[in-house]
Amino acid sequence: MKIIKPSYFDTFRCIAGLCPDSCCKEWDVLVDSDKATLYRSLPGDLGDRLRQVLKDEDGEIYMTIEDRRCPMWRTDGLCRIQAELGEGALCKTCRDFPRLTHDYGNFIEYGLELSCPEAARIILNTPSPVFIEQEVPGGEAPEYDPEDMEILLRTRETARGILADSTRSIGETLSLLMLYAYQAQAALNGVEISPNFDADALLDHAKTYARIGDSAEILNFFKNLEILTPEWESRLNSPSPAQWDDHYRTLAQYFVDRYWLQAISDYDLVGRAKFAVISCIVVHLLGGNFTETAQAYSKEIENSIENVEAILDAAYDETFFADVRLFGVLLL
Ligand code: SF4
Repeated sequence: MKIIKPSYFDTFRCIAGLCPDSCCKEWDVLVDSDKATLYRSLPGDLGDRLRQVLKDEDGEIYMTIEDRRCPMWRTDGLCRIQAELGEGALCKTCRDFPRLTHDYGNFIEYGLELSCPEAARIILNTPSPVFIEQEVPGGEAPEYDPEDMEILLRTRETARGILADSTRSIGETLSLLMLYAYQAQAALNGVEISPNFDADALLDHAKTYARIGDSAEILNFFKNLEILTPEWESRLNSPSPAQWDDHYRTLAQYFVDRYWLQAISDYDLVGRAKFAVISCIVVHLLGGNFTETAQAYSKEIENSIENVEAILDAAYDETFFADVRLFGVLLL
């Protein structure tokens, strides 16, 4: 079985007390049942505290947040469980974060989550990451059609190439990503398509049909999603659009790397490409420090499955996310 990971994956180290945000803030941590059993059985003050803050909800066990923080968070930025019992006592969520694992049966892809400030710094400062492949024992026969996965792997390479082509503006590049997603989607749907992708002709066509985009409506949509922090709400209420620059290629590549292959589960590749483009547009509209805004976006949006699904649905349903309107934001 193959393991594929960006070269920076193994360099990640949590910066703990130096972290400007902390993964121990704002969200309820899902605790695996083995660790929940251990925590609830602990003697003494730590055990009493854990019995108090662990809650059962919809068949899952969570650590409740108090004062917007995990109750195990200490003022020195360290975790009380880790400090008193060692790293091995951390639940899976805390042990893994911000490492991502996408297991496709006969291969696994690793990555880092943009919602961690240190991971965001690494990801967004690595414009064209090198991917390392390793053979390891194990693996299973995939449950999906291997030919479809081949299409996704091949088209993702082309999408990466589109994003890396700095001869085009960012607006053109993100428009092309959307346009190419339709071609890739057709291939995934089993439609016989020409292997040629005439980028210039397609961009001319997109410019002809582009309609003025509605940035205010896009931000209004985000105001109606689940919001974790008051800071995010005030960012949405006071946007300060940034210049488009090459950082957005790297950001779009992060989304493509993370989500493109996931279309194997529901065959919605266009929705995922639009999700990547819409995400770049929102980070651009909010402005401010690029890395901080992208990290905050990821924390608010990517870490909420409800928010991600709402955007995937709205990418098809809402007028302000129609292709011609997104081309308007990107090209006019
Ligand atoms: S968000 Fe990242 S850097 Fe900050 S405490 Fe969590 S893992 Fe460490």
